[in-house]
Amino acid sequence: MSQIYNFSAGPAALPKEVLQQARDEMLDWHGSGMSVMEMSHRGKEFMSIIEDLENDLRNLAGIPSNYKVLFLQGGASSQFAMIPMNLLRDKKKADYINTGQWSEKAIKEAKKYCTVNIAASSEDAKFTYAPTQDQWRLNDDAAYIHYTSNETIGGVEFNWAPDFPMDSEVPLVADMSSNILSRSLDVSRYGLIYAGAQKNLGPAGLVLVIIREDLAGFPLPGTPTLFDYMVHIKNDSMYNTPPTYAIYITGLVLKWLKQQGGLTVVEQNNIHKAALLYDLLDTSDFYHCPVAKQDRSRMNIPFTLKDPALDEAFLKQAEANGLVQLKGHRSVGGMRASLYNAMPVEGVVQLITFMKEFSSKHA
Ligand SMILES: *Cc1c(COP(=O)(O)O)cnc(C)c1O
Repeated sequence: MSQIYNFSAGPAALPKEVLQQARDEMLDWHGSGMSVMEMSHRGKEFMSIIEDLENDLRNLAGIPSNYKVLFLQGGASSQFAMIPMNLLRDKKKADYINTGQWSEKAIKEAKKYCTVNIAASSEDAKFTYAPTQDQWRLNDDAAYIHYTSNETIGGVEFNWAPDFPMDSEVPLVADMSSNILSRSLDVSRYGLIYAGAQKNLGPAGLVLVIIREDLAGFPLPGTPTLFDYMVHIKNDSMYNTPPTYAIYITGLVLKWLKQQGGLTVVEQNNIHKAALLYDLLDTSDFYHCPVAKQDRSRMNIPFTLKDPALDEAFLKQAEANGLVQLKGHRSVGGMRASLYNAMPVEGVVQLITFMKEFSSKHA
């Protein structure tokens, strides 16, 4: 098999070393004679895997001790409902920042439970920028503020973390599905962070929730047991069977991140990789990226070709060059290159080389 580079937005490429280790341990994990898939989630082997994962995550992301880490299922989409169900308490409103398709889905779900105040939106420019904090029109009686730190489809990223006074009573909630652990992070600014694993953490099937302890325990009446954060906190994410294999692979990914040198180093690599591709997009009149410069995503880079009639040829030839899954989201067309942590610099270099050749052939 020749080397390919996978630019999928999710489920996305995993570090090769992680897949190799998973292969080596597939039939016999650490001399247990079992595959991780076959282990009791309450046995000592799996308990050590999930504890390691939590410790590594706490160290990498600097998670304060008054935050709980939960390993749940149902994808990031389940959190669109779980958040209002648990954080509204006796309030009737929540603030949402609308920066694209994932924000919109979160908003649509929240509307089932409360009045959603769109505190800021970039819809006026087709979701090509991230409204600055001074543009957020927040409600005093909102139960929480929700934003999407990286819009996976539109390629818009908040390259700054919202900053509220430490004694602010309205918790900040972030959907970090597609940029978690891609940059350094100050967890203490947030009430709740969630992320589906299949973008930048591991395989599909796991959703990570980091929640400030005091926010859990107040579900709306009628909240299903499985949708109550406190149930999962009390049971260490083992109220029911957690997604064990996804947890194991995510654990390997975090060990790999530690080996890379932690989030500061990983962030530097991500800045470098994204800059390589944006430089090409900005210096070419063949390719175009619609996103405002200061809000461009390091993780998901959408771009169009001068003539959409060339899209098919571009994708076909890219694939022949080992550059796969570059097709843009069906709703926006064009191309999208996702450069998550697992994408090596070499993959970006090869993509750029190919893009230059393609544009000079079709200029
Ligand atoms: C992919 C994605 C989701 C949805 O994740 P699922 O695991 O499919 O539910 C939500 N938010 C963002 C930002 C995403 O990228």
